[in-house]
Amino acid sequence: MNSIARQSDTSSRICQYLAVLGLVFSCSTAFASEGSVDPSDNGVDIIEDSTEDTDSRSSEASAAAEQLIEPEPVREHMGPLADAVTDAEGQAEPLVLLGTEILPGTSQRLSWSATELFEGVPVSTPVLVANGVLPGPTLCLTAAVHGDELNGIEMVRRIFHDIEPKKLAGALIGVPIVNVQGFRRGSRYLPDRRDLNRYFPGNPNGSAAARIAHSLFTDVIAHCDALVDLHTGSFERANLPQLRADLRDPDVVTLAHGFGAMVVLHSRPGVGTLRYAATRAGIPAVTVEAGGPSQLELAEVKHGVKGVETLLTALGMTRRTRLWGDPEPVYYKSTWVRANNGGILLSDVSLGSSVRKGDVLGSITDPMSNARTELHSPYSGRIIGMARNQVVMPGFAAFHVGIQTDEVSATETEVEVAEKTDAGGYVDGMSE
Ligand SMILES: [Zn+2]
Repeated sequence: MNSIARQSDTSSRICQYLAVLGLVFSCSTAFASEGSVDPSDNGVDIIEDSTEDTDSRSSEASAAAEQLIEPEPVREHMGPLADAVTDAEGQAEPLVLLGTEILPGTSQRLSWSATELFEGVPVSTPVLVANGVLPGPTLCLTAAVHGDELNGIEMVRRIFHDIEPKKLAGALIGVPIVNVQGFRRGSRYLPDRRDLNRYFPGNPNGSAAARIAHSLFTDVIAHCDALVDLHTGSFERANLPQLRADLRDPDVVTLAHGFGAMVVLHSRPGVGTLRYAATRAGIPAVTVEAGGPSQLELAEVKHGVKGVETLLTALGMTRRTRLWGDPEPVYYKSTWVRANNGGILLSDVSLGSSVRKGDVLGSITDPMSNARTELHSPYSGRIIGMARNQVVMPGFAAFHVGIQTDEVSATETEVEVAEKTDAGGYVDGMSE
C-alpha cells in the first residue's frame, strides 16, 4: 500500500472514530473528495494556487497583514480573570450562541459554518456547549485550527465527557475541529494552502482564510471570557506538553497558573494567531502544545486534559480535589539546536529527557558520503520539543532545549530563539 493510500486509510479510520463520537457529521462526504486529491499531495505541503502564495510560508505574514483588522475589545472587560468567579453573583443566565439559547444546567451540540465556502457549500463543524447551573466565566477550547493536529480534538471530547452542567459554574464552549477542511484532507492548511492561524481576527471581505477566521471570531470566540487553543508540533516535530503564554499579561498569568504542573514558555503571540487576536480583544488566551501532528497520542492527550481540568477548578468552574501533587507551573526559556549539515537525522534523546551541556542529542549522516556529524546540547536542560527521525536540510530546527527558570526571568529572557521569526514571518519548530 502506498503512503497516500495509507494516509487516506488512517484519516478515514480517524474520521469514522470521530463520527462515532459525534464530532464529525459525515465521513463519506469528507472522503468522497479524497480520491480526487492530486496524488502528489501528501496532505502537508501542496501549493494549489500558483498565482498567489507561491511560498505561503514566506509570503504568509505579508498576505495576512493586509487582511487583518486590528482586534477591538469585543466585550465589556469583566475585570481580572482571577476575580471572575468570586465576583459572579446571582443566577446563571441562558447563553445565546449561534442563534441558540442554552439554558443554565444544560448542554447542547451546535454547529458553526463559515458561510460561502470554497465549493459554495457551507461546511459545518460541531460546537459543544455546557452552560453551568451557577454563574461564572465562559471558557472556550479550540482544537485543530491546524487540520492535522489531532490530540486537541480528543482532549476536547474527554473534557466535555467529564463535564456535568448541573455542577458547573460558568460555561464551557468547545470547537473540537476548527479547520474542518484541513482535517478532512489530513492537512495543516486550508484548501488554498493558507494557514488559518495567521488570519485572526479575520476580515469579512478578505481571503477565504480571513473570512473563516472572522466568522469564527465573531460567532464564537467573542462570547468567551478566556480561551485555550490546543495545538501540537508541526512538520514532523513533537512537543512535550507545554503552554505558550504571554506572561506580561496578568490575566494570561492567571490562566497559566491554573494549569498546575505544566511546562510554561513565555512567548508573545504572533500577529494573526488566534491567541494574539483573542488577547488583543480582551479575552486572555494561552496555547497548549502537546505531541506531534497526524497522530493521536494518549499520554499527551491525558496530560492536556488534566491541565485543562485543573484550570476549570482553578477558575472555580468545577469542584474537584487537586489533580496534581505539585500544582506549580515550571517556567522555561529555550533554544533550538539546528542541523548544520543535510542528511539523515537520528535522535539519541527523547521528549522530556534531561540533558547536560555537551551531551549528544542526535546525529546527521550524509547518505552519499556516509559522513556523520553529531548535534550537541549547548545548555543543560530538558528536551521540550524535537523532530522525528527524518531527512533534514542544513538549518533544520531539530531539538528544542528548555532551560528551567523562574516566572520573572522567563519574561525577561523571552524569545531567545524558539519563536524568532524568519524575515518572511515563518516560525519554525512551532506549530501555533
Ligand atoms: Zn498548530
